[in-house]
Amino acid sequence: MNGDSGPRWRDLVRWSKDYAWGVSRACRVAPGMAAIWGGLQIATGFLPLALLLASRRALAVLETGAGRSELVSAFAVLGSVLLAAPVLSTSLQWMRRRFADRVQQSLVESMHHQACHVPYSFFDRADSHDLVHHVRVNTLGQPFNLLEQTGLALQNLILLGGVLGVLVGYAWWLPALLLGTALPGLVVVAKFNVESVRFNRATTPLQRKGSYLSWLMGEKWFAAEIRMFLLSRLFGSMYSRTREEYRRLETRMDTKEWRIELGYSALGVVGFLAGIWGLLELRMAGAVLVSDIVIAFHAFTMGQKLFRGTLDNAGQLYRAGAFLKDFRDFLRHPSDPPVDPEAVPLQPLGKGIEFQGVRFRYPNASRDCLDGLDLLVPAGKVTALVGPNGSGKSTLIRLLCGLYRPDSGSILLDGTDIRDFPVDRLRASIAVLFQDPVGFDATLRENVEWGNPRVDAARLAAVARSAGLQELIEKCPDKWDTLLGGRFGGRELSGGEWQKLALARAFVRDSPICLLDEPTSDLDGWAEADWYERFLAWSASRTSILITHRFSTAMRADHICLIDDGRILEQGTHVELLERDGLYASGWKSQMTRQDR
Ligand code: ATP
Repeated sequence: MNGDSGPRWRDLVRWSKDYAWGVSRACRVAPGMAAIWGGLQIATGFLPLALLLASRRALAVLETGAGRSELVSAFAVLGSVLLAAPVLSTSLQWMRRRFADRVQQSLVESMHHQACHVPYSFFDRADSHDLVHHVRVNTLGQPFNLLEQTGLALQNLILLGGVLGVLVGYAWWLPALLLGTALPGLVVVAKFNVESVRFNRATTPLQRKGSYLSWLMGEKWFAAEIRMFLLSRLFGSMYSRTREEYRRLETRMDTKEWRIELGYSALGVVGFLAGIWGLLELRMAGAVLVSDIVIAFHAFTMGQKLFRGTLDNAGQLYRAGAFLKDFRDFLRHPSDPPVDPEAVPLQPLGKGIEFQGVRFRYPNASRDCLDGLDLLVPAGKVTALVGPNGSGKSTLIRLLCGLYRPDSGSILLDGTDIRDFPVDRLRASIAVLFQDPVGFDATLRENVEWGNPRVDAARLAAVARSAGLQELIEKCPDKWDTLLGGRFGGRELSGGEWQKLALARAFVRDSPICLLDEPTSDLDGWAEADWYERFLAWSASRTSILITHRFSTAMRADHICLIDDGRILEQGTHVELLERDGLYASGWKSQMTRQDR
């Protein structure tokens, strides 16, 4: 923040390109509105000038004692201009709102589309979160700002040209004085604007931390822990410290701005006094009328205000350009190819899923998570994956879903590398339940149907049975149409009920591969035994991977693999693994001993 704060040509060229892109995109979104808005903006820009000239004529007619008819016509012109002013300005305001709203919606829709299509690994980087924060926060206000400031800039330039023209009619030195006292300020303020955009960028992590803490304290998700662990004071003071640090930096910037403002205003007063003095000299020499002095005086102060407005204008436009840069950077980020929601899933597998020497490290990690892993998941069978926390089980599933790519090695479906399948076909072929299943604040039906919008009523009922949902549906007042989740006044569910719902969303897909990450973690013991039987009936002819910490679930699988530190250590059936008396057997024995107590 203390480094070179001046604008560089490269930055300015980039800014102009981003700005031009923003304006052309706005015009393409609603060309008709853009044309009307532009026309109104130009017409409104001429109004103050028209008012100035009409007033000059009326005053001159009065002062020179011209005839009644001339007076009437001068006042008729003045009246028309006065009448046109509110009509044009209110119409412009109305049109600008409508236009900006359309532009904003279009930008937000592009942002949503991109956010849903950037590679999953994008969210592993802190600077990605900074970028998304900028884009999300600014997309709400900057489209309006862009249009508002572009329009004002247009008006100011028209008016400034007119005012300089009026002043030069009285004396050549009047516009020169105006420019001379405004230009130094223009340079300083422009530099400050560049610095303030950089300040905003540099402090984004701090601003995001403040927003995060504020969000923590206002969300139900954390409310119980905050109360039970008495965290409110801690989080409150963390928030205050973050805000204070930000305020300290912001105050430094504000002070700088205050000094610049002071210097600029002082220069303006000097220019103003010099201008008046010059005009009085002209009057004393009999070169101008009193009405001329009034108008020239008015035009001079108007010119000064216009310069001031142009400076603010330039600052706001620079900020809008900075937003457009972030926005374009986000849109330009490589994204997954467009997906076809109608993609046809693969046929049931004949051989199975093979992991061959798969090595993978997370983008922000310092060591490999999967360390040359080899594994064959036989087709049409249930393979249970067990292992200590952090051993890489969920990672294996994320790789199979194509959310990440292996750094080396390959994952094959019946001998074909998953990279050779279009990503939508691969994903349509997988029914997945992630470790932290998501529940949507929507109806029960939507929560399930979003897994497969083409599902019919008979299949929906079958899926509800397989996932153990019937009891919940019976309890809900509006059955399938019951609204769930508390955000919009829907029914709250227990952890296990949300889990069953997410399971039903996975089951509703007609997919040959099924990946379940801890599907029974929230289920009670009775529900677990019952669940497995129903799962077996559903998963017949599918190839399933079941991640579980419960040996009582794992033991029922056709094949069990024990993974530790990114490698498969043991595999076989439950009986084979017990006979081997290795890590699986010791885990099994300690879990059974705990249950017997
Ligand atoms: P658990 O049984 O606790 O669910 P797991 O075997 O499923 O564990 P993974 O979630 O696959 O473990 O994580 C394996 C390792 O990778 C862990 O050490 C974890 O910290 C790390 N890890 C997971 N996700 C990321 C990520 N997005 N970025 C960096 N490291 C990660």
